Amino acid sequence: MNALVKFWPPEPSSGSGVTLSVVVPLYNEYEVIGLLYERLSAILATLDISWELVLVDDGSTDGTAKAIEHLTQAHPAVTAVLLNRNFGKEAALTAGLDHAQGDAVIIIDADLQDPPELIPQMLVAWHDGADIVCMRRRSRAGETWFKRVSAHHFYRLLNAISDVDIPEDTGDFRLLSRRAVEALSQLNERERYMKGLFAWIGLPTTVIEYDRMPRAAGTTKWDYLSLFGLALEGITSFSVAPLRLAMGLGLLTAFAGILFTFWIVVKALVFGEPVQGYPSLISMVTILGGVQLLSIGLLGEYIGKTYYETKQRPVYLVRDVHRQGKASAQASAQTASMRGRKA
Ligand code: UDP
Ligand code: MG
Repeated sequence: MNALVKFWPPEPSSGSGVTLSVVVPLYNEYEVIGLLYERLSAILATLDISWELVLVDDGSTDGTAKAIEHLTQAHPAVTAVLLNRNFGKEAALTAGLDHAQGDAVIIIDADLQDPPELIPQMLVAWHDGADIVCMRRRSRAGETWFKRVSAHHFYRLLNAISDVDIPEDTGDFRLLSRRAVEALSQLNERERYMKGLFAWIGLPTTVIEYDRMPRAAGTTKWDYLSLFGLALEGITSFSVAPLRLAMGLGLLTAFAGILFTFWIVVKALVFGEPVQGYPSLISMVTILGGVQLLSIGLLGEYIGKTYYETKQRPVYLVRDVHRQGKASAQASAQTASMRGRKA
C-alpha cells in the first residue's frame, strides 16, 4: 500500500493538499456517529495520505447536527455541513461533493452498512486509473427478501430501458476522482438520481464486489413507498421508454378496436346477425379509459419533472459549515448561488 502512496495524487489534482475526502450523508444517525468516526479514522490513519471527513447533516431532528459540530471541534480533519432541512439523500450527497476538497472522494453511508475497511482497496483501484470505483453488493445482510428481489429487478429493468448503463446492485458507496466530481457538478438537474448521474458522466469505472452489512444502529430511512418513488425517479430521469410504451399500447388498442369493428360490420352485413353486445361495449370503454388515464398520468409525470426543473431552485441550502472549530455562516449564500451560476 505505502509503496503506491508515493505516487499520489494522480492527475488532475484539486490543489487543496487533501488527497482523500470521505463524504457521509446523515439523517437522524445520532446513534452511529461515534462508531462511524472511530471506524473511519482508524482505517484512514493506517494510510499515508492526507484526508478529510465531510459530514452532511440532512436536517436531522435527533441531535445529529450538534454531535457532528462537536466532532469538528475535536478533530481538525472533520467538516460539518448543516442543511436547512431534510432535502433527501441525493441532495445531501450533492452538498457533500460540493464541499469536498480531496483529489478523490469516497461516498459512504453513515450506518456502516458499507465497511470503511474497503477504502484502501478503492484507493488502489483509483490509483490504477479508475475515475469511478463502484462497490457492488454481493450480499445484502439485514435486508428483507422483498427489498433484495425488488432492487435486483429494478436495476435490470432500468438498464434495459435507459440510455445509461448503471452497474447492477451498486449503491451510492463509491469512489469518485476529482475529474468525476467536477463532471458531476456540471449536471444541473434539481432532481438528482445519483446512481444514474454517476453512470451518465461515463468515465473509466472499476467495480469491486463486497458484502453489505446490516445497519450498525438506528433504522432505515426508506419505506417501500419512498423506494418506489426513487425507482420511478430513476426511470423517468433516464428514459422516455414509458412514454413510448404508452404510445405502443395506444396503437395496439386502436388496432384491436378497428379489427373488432370490422368483425361486427361483417357479421351484420354478411351473416345478418343483429348488432348486439352491451357487455363488450362496456369492456371496451373501460379498457380504453384505463389506457388513456394511465398514459395521461405518465405524461403528467414527465411534465411534472419539467415543472420542477424550470423553477431552478437550488438542490439544497446550507445553514452552516463548521470546520476546525470555526463556523462560516456565509457559506449558505455562496453554495445556494453556486449551482445557479453553473447553469
Ligand atoms: N439519508 C439522508 N437523507 C435522507 C435519508 C437518508 O442523508 O433523507 C442518509 C442516511 O443517514 C444514511 C444513508 O442516507 O447515511 C442511507 O440511508 P439508509 O441507511 O436509511 O438507507 P438504506 O441503507 O436502508 O438503503
Ligand atoms: Mg443503510
